[in-house]
This record gives sequence, C-alpha cells and structure tokens, in this order.
Amino acid sequence: MDERSLETVCRECGRPVSSHRDDRAVRCAACFDDFLSERDAEFLGSYSEIGVTSRRIVAETCFRALVMESPPHRKVLAMNIMEQYALAASDLVALYHALKQRGRAPVMRTMSQFKLDRASAMGFFHEIMNTPTLELLEGLGLPMPDAVAARCPSLPERDVKEMKRVVEQMLYDLQFTGRMGEMAALALAQMAGQNRDGSALVQQSAWLDNYGLRGDQVAAMSIDEERRTVNVNAIAVDEKKLEHIVTSINAMTRAAQNMIYAALTMYQEDERAGRRTRKDGRPAPDRR
Ligand SMILES: [Zn+2]
Repeated sequence: MDERSLETVCRECGRPVSSHRDDRAVRCAACFDDFLSERDAEFLGSYSEIGVTSRRIVAETCFRALVMESPPHRKVLAMNIMEQYALAASDLVALYHALKQRGRAPVMRTMSQFKLDRASAMGFFHEIMNTPTLELLEGLGLPMPDAVAARCPSLPERDVKEMKRVVEQMLYDLQFTGRMGEMAALALAQMAGQNRDGSALVQQSAWLDNYGLRGDQVAAMSIDEERRTVNVNAIAVDEKKLEHIVTSINAMTRAAQNMIYAALTMYQEDERAGRRTRKDGRPAPDRR
C-alpha cells in the first residue's frame, strides 16, 4: 500500500496535517481555529443557559438551608457558598478575558484554558474599577448604552431598549463586583488555588489554631510553592457576611449573563450586516 494514502489530511481543507505529533489530528491548526471561532456564539449561548447560573443556584440553596442547620453543618454550607463565590468569580473573569480576545482567539478555547490566579484576579478587579466605561466596553466589543441604536441599525426599537438596559445593568454589576476589592481578589485567588489541587477550604483544625481561627470562621488554605509557605485566609461565616457573598455571586452571574446577551446581540448584528464578527469591525482575514 502506498504510504502516502495513510497520511492524515485535514477534514476541512484537505491538506496534509503536518508533523508527526499530529497523526491523530482531524484538522490542521488553522482550520481548527476557524472551526472553534465559527461556534463562538453557539458556545456562549449554551453556556449562558445553564453554566453561568449554576453557581448562583447552589449558593442560594446552601444559604437557605444554612438557617435551619446546626453549627457543624452550617460551616459546611458556608464553605460551599465561599466555593461558589470563587467559582462564579473565576467564571466571570474567564468570560471577560475571552470576550476581550474575541476575534483573535476562539472564545471556547480562551475560556477553557483560563486559569484564575492571584495576578489575573487582581488584574480583573483593578481593570473593572479603573477603566473608563467607553474603554471597558470597547475592550469587550460592546457599544456605549447611548450608541446602541447607531451601532446596531438592524435592531428593532424594542431590542435597542433591552440592549441598553442590559449593558447598563452589566456595568452596574461589574462596579458592584469591583467594590468587593482587593481583599476579595486575594481570597479568591487563594480559594481558586495556584494549582489544581492546591487549595482547600478547611474548618478549624489544631494546627490552624496558630492562626487564631475563631469558632465562626472557616479558612481558605493554599500552598504557595513560590514563597514556600501556606496561605491561610480566614473568613467569618456569620449570616450577614454570607448574605453579602450570595448577593455578590448574584451580581457576578448576572454580569456574566448580560455580558453574553450583549455579545450575542453584536454577533447577530454583524451577521445581519453580512460581516464576520470582529471587534474592530474589519472583515476577518481569509486564512485559506
Ligand atoms: Zn485545514
């Protein structure tokens, strides 16, 4: 048999998939980027249906149950709420990051490869608090509320109004999230962990007593290999605080959903205008 016939070719463009490591590849790298990018909108749509809200649902359920439970169980529920906070924030930061890269990198890839760490958490909080609104929205490829009608001429008036409301609400929720501040960012980064299994929410334990952990506190603990220390971040789990945290989770998930709604509106608008979505409004280059 001719060996060439066994050579893997790209499913899309039919060109040989180069390099030995690629012998199981079904597409060449460029076609795979296109494949993913063409599905940006579908991915975001399905993600916003369930993915985004799951954090809020779990946190709210834990919070409701907390009121009825005995102290040891309350701690478990409190820790779960904190975990949902870290996850919701991680989701939002990843989404924000991916939408900023939109048009340059597939949203699905940027989101799934995103890793929340101390630097990215701090960077995000700093950015949403300090970037002028126009610049923040431009970064996400979204128009200012007052510019929606002009930027999206194909939108019916009713949808223009809705889009304006969505962008305004998103800005409000981002500000609210940002006001949680630097401390929250730090706690977050620690909870999210610097590596895959490097973080844990822990209850009081004997050796943590050195940190003076009170009975009403849980701690986010992570191993910091760089500084060769164990980071312990104590969080009081009184109801008021937890309620505030649930409110923040709400704000973050709503911000994510509105961000997706707005982005999808822009995809649709650009599709109707007959151009492939790019944030800078230029047509996408033909790669083939
Ligand atoms: Zn190809």
